[in-house]
Amino acid sequence: MAAPCLRLGMKQLFKMPAAMGHQGRAYSTSQTFAEVLRLPKKQLTKLVYPLQELEQHLVPDSMPDLHLRVFDPSLEDISRAESVFASSARNRIEYISSAVRLDHAPDLSRPEVCFIGRSNVGKSSLIKALFSLAPEVEVRVSKKPGHTKKMNFFKVGKYFTVVDMPGYGYRAPEDFVDMVEAYLKERRNLKRTFLLVDSAVGITKTDNIAIEMCEEFALPYVMVLTKIDKSSKGHLLKQVLQIQKFVNTQTQGCFPQLFPVSAVTYSGIHLLKCFIANITGNLN
Ligand code: GDP
Repeated sequence: MAAPCLRLGMKQLFKMPAAMGHQGRAYSTSQTFAEVLRLPKKQLTKLVYPLQELEQHLVPDSMPDLHLRVFDPSLEDISRAESVFASSARNRIEYISSAVRLDHAPDLSRPEVCFIGRSNVGKSSLIKALFSLAPEVEVRVSKKPGHTKKMNFFKVGKYFTVVDMPGYGYRAPEDFVDMVEAYLKERRNLKRTFLLVDSAVGITKTDNIAIEMCEEFALPYVMVLTKIDKSSKGHLLKQVLQIQKFVNTQTQGCFPQLFPVSAVTYSGIHLLKCFIANITGNLN
């Protein structure tokens, strides 16, 4: 019985253009969004709307609290957001500077978004994936936990600033709390904090400290679930439902919709870019 299905699958694979044949493993950074739009519907949904792809595996109405479409941009919106993240002579995307204290942070008036998460959660990889259309931007990705000990500021054209915060938890810098707390509390142009949680692990005690910090300062924040390519669909679904329940019942400031992403397959990256462009006022 399995053979005809397999043959059909292989046939479809061979019908795809070369770049798309790699879709199951990794998204090529040279692949433009126009090419993404030509993907078969199932693959496109998995790449662009990973939560909706997961939804298809739920028993209908079994989880009415799973927020799938609070932020539900069209493919046209997502395509427009891509240009915000594409580096060009007129839209320079570049590293600006690093700071260990808030008063050393660059004085910028543009809207700002920051990324926080425990060491090794995949923060540098995610930022690198967001900047895949600006390959000249150097975002260090390390195999050793805890290398990001400074706040790193990146300018995205005239649009906004992205801040890579130091990882917390194992081998976090001693002055981490002072640095991060002061930044989160006092940075006036901070529009949104993206709090990264490893989807394979779920919310850890260390993540809870960051969540409590965001809640205490009444910050608007968003939970991004990293490394979704690492888990089976069943495990991922279980984790997503658990984390969604946590967000629904235990948080005030967290955006109700989760953002699952993979820096390896690029699943969810386009949607996240579109969300960032939208909240910084650049999707008009
Ligand atoms: P950071 O310490 O939070 O900046 O984490 P990194 O971005 O340096 O990632 C930590 C480790 O996880 C590295 O070995 C990455 O290659 C790996 N990693 C990061 N993102 C992903 C992902 O989306 N999928 C998989 N499979 N591995 C990832």
